[in-house]
Amino acid sequence: MSATIISGKDLAESLRERVRERAARFLEQHGRKPGLHVVLVGDDPASQVYVRNKERAAERDGLEGKVHRLPADTSMEAVLAKIDELNRDDSIDGILVQLPLPKHLDEQKVIDAIDPMKDVDGLTPLSAGFLVTGREGLRPCTPSGCMHILRSIGFDPAGRRALVVGRSILVGKPIALMLLEANATVTVAHSRTKDLEARVAEADLVVAAVGRPEFIRGEWLKEGAVVIDVGINRLEDGRLVGDVDFEGAKERAGAVTPVPGGVGPMTIACLIENTVIAAERRSAGG
Ligand code: NDP
Repeated sequence: MSATIISGKDLAESLRERVRERAARFLEQHGRKPGLHVVLVGDDPASQVYVRNKERAAERDGLEGKVHRLPADTSMEAVLAKIDELNRDDSIDGILVQLPLPKHLDEQKVIDAIDPMKDVDGLTPLSAGFLVTGREGLRPCTPSGCMHILRSIGFDPAGRRALVVGRSILVGKPIALMLLEANATVTVAHSRTKDLEARVAEADLVVAAVGRPEFIRGEWLKEGAVVIDVGINRLEDGRLVGDVDFEGAKERAGAVTPVPGGVGPMTIACLIENTVIAAERRSAGG
């Protein structure tokens, strides 16, 4: 069997096309572009690349994108003052704090300070609460991207066995909740899980968000399973690989996302979509 390789790149392009139209309509109706503002503290090289990509993507899709660069030794008070300034600015619809923050800053406290109406990363406790209770809110971008991917291949999670490997706030927990909402029977595996291989073997859908290169072996998979590989790992030789052994997975899976070009582009597309959603909701009064 040779798996279908799901192009997150193409899918992201078509989602962004639709979002671009909504952004243009918003500009027409409100005389301004939806605004996405990113706060970057410090000079971590990977974070610099990520924020630049977000800024460019926003501008390409007809949003106003801006990065606020703060020095690595910025105090907690100064970071909170910046968030407060962005919260109060009515022309800003989405605020994103690039993680990780320098060690001396309290990451949770900084996230908590973001106005939930502008929480385009979906990481504030209120956004998490909306997700748990199945209400409308801004949802984390990477898991939303995974759900878009599943819809695009016509995979209905209802009644299917889904295994999520990883339980982070950013990916594992929210994707597990979204799959549960879509009526899958969800198992969440983590570093204390025993016999992961057996859990993988019984899953119709595997979502891998571990952060370990090629950790989930292709031969563990159930024949025909759908595999969403969230992991991004850089090897010593410079190659980027996912959390799943892609070559092995191609032999057994029904469909699999590649790394790069799978979940990554969808994450950015969903961030742009969330910003337009936030702009539309804010202009409609919440
Ligand atoms: P975290 O490090 O926050 O979480 C990793 C999870 O994997 C933890 O829950 C951990 O378990 C679990 N884990 C670690 N070792 C094992 C093991 N041996 N067996 C089973 N589970 C294990 O990572 P993130 O969730 O933030 O990210 C995961 C990956 O996804 C990373 O590679 C990251 O770069 C990538 N990523 C990609 C994005 C994209 O846009 N494509 C966006 C965000 C992340 P425990 O809780 O017990 O420690």
